[in-house]
Amino acid sequence: MPLAENARELFLPAACASCRSAPAAGGGLCPDCAADLASLRPVLATPAVRGAPPAVAAGPYAGTLAEALNEYKERARRELAPVLGGLLGRALAVVAAEVPGAVLVPVPATRAARRARGFDHVAAACARIPGPVPVHPCLRALPRPDSVGLSPRQRSLAARRSLRTTGRAAALAATGRPAILVDDIVTTGATLHAAAEALRAAGVVAAAAITVAAA
Ligand SMILES: [Zn+2]
Repeated sequence: MPLAENARELFLPAACASCRSAPAAGGGLCPDCAADLASLRPVLATPAVRGAPPAVAAGPYAGTLAEALNEYKERARRELAPVLGGLLGRALAVVAAEVPGAVLVPVPATRAARRARGFDHVAAACARIPGPVPVHPCLRALPRPDSVGLSPRQRSLAARRSLRTTGRAAALAATGRPAILVDDIVTTGATLHAAAEALRAAGVVAAAAITVAAA
C-alpha cells in the first residue's frame, strides 16, 4: 500500500465496512449497519449437495451481511472478526443443543488465500465465537482451482480433493466428540460435504455446520 494511503488510514476514521458511507464505530461498522446485523435471525441452509451436514447460517447472504462479509474477506477488514464471530455464535446457539459435547472445526483457507488476505478469515472469526464450545482445528486445505465456472459436480470433486485432516483429527476421534464445521458461507454445500468426508475418514462425525451467511 502506498505511504499516502497508509497515512490516510491512520488519521481518518475508517468508513463502515458495509455501507461505506457512514464512519465506522467500534467493530468496523456504523451503528445502523451494526443494528441491521444484530436484527438477523439464523436460517437453516438447504445445501444442494447430498450428504452435506445440516447447516445453520447467521443470515442470508444479502444486504448488510453480504457487504460486511465481502469487506472482511476481500479487503482484510480484520476488525470485523468479533462481529462475525458473534453472528456465528447465534447460529451455534441453534445447533449446539442438538450436538452435545461438540467441538468447532473451522474450514481452513488455502495457503494462497491466507497469504493474499494476510490471515485465515474463518479461523479468526471462529476464534471470536462466544461461549464454551472449544475450537479444534484439524483440517488443512491443499491448493485448489478457482471454483468459478465449475459445475456443482466439479466443484464437489475439487473440494473433496483439497481438504485433508491434520494429525489433530486422530486426537479428536479418540475423544468420540462430534464436530460442528464452521465456514464463512454455504452455497452448494460442496465444501462442507468435503470437510465432513475428510473428518469421517479420520473417525470424526461432522454432525452439523454453522456459517456466517447462506447464499
Ligand atoms: Zn454502515
